[in-house]
Amino acid sequence: MDHRDRWTARAANELVYVSGMAETIFAKIIRGEIPCHKVYEDDRVLAFLDVNPLSRGHTLVIPKEAVATIDQLSDDSAAAIGRALPRIARGILAVTGAPAYNVLQNNGAAAHQAVFHVHFHIIPKYDDGAGLGIGWKPIRLGDDGNDLAASIAAQVR
Ligand code: AMP
Repeated sequence: MDHRDRWTARAANELVYVSGMAETIFAKIIRGEIPCHKVYEDDRVLAFLDVNPLSRGHTLVIPKEAVATIDQLSDDSAAAIGRALPRIARGILAVTGAPAYNVLQNNGAAAHQAVFHVHFHIIPKYDDGAGLGIGWKPIRLGDDGNDLAASIAAQVR
């Protein structure tokens, strides 16, 4: 059972069970069943232009491993993504001339994830403001900072 599993109405009198782990559109792109504007591919990674870009050159970098969120990603896929991201970013910068860019990676619907297959956005930021707009409202680090850091550190394996 996945937290995105749900029942949905396919017809007036027919309920079907939709698995949250059901295939995403990115799985079909990986298999070549849906076209994309490919910018990079290796054994574990695919990158292609976002179909609704925030700015020119907005690219998605995805592992071929079909997991929804980054905490589920294998070490091998994570390493492959880590190797590919800077290379793809350099290509985007070279072609677009953008002076800056954001790398965005959403996990979970509440965090704005719409496609439940891990993906990194590389979003050029231009001098005219085109690109990612960020609403960043920091809170104060509480007095439990030491405990919090130690607790998280103890869970990192
Ligand atoms: P997110 O909100 O992080 O899940 O972003 C999903 C992104 O996937 C959005 O920016 C969409 O525009 C993009 N997207 C969805 N379908 C496609 C597709 N077929 N080809 C390219 N990009 C897509």
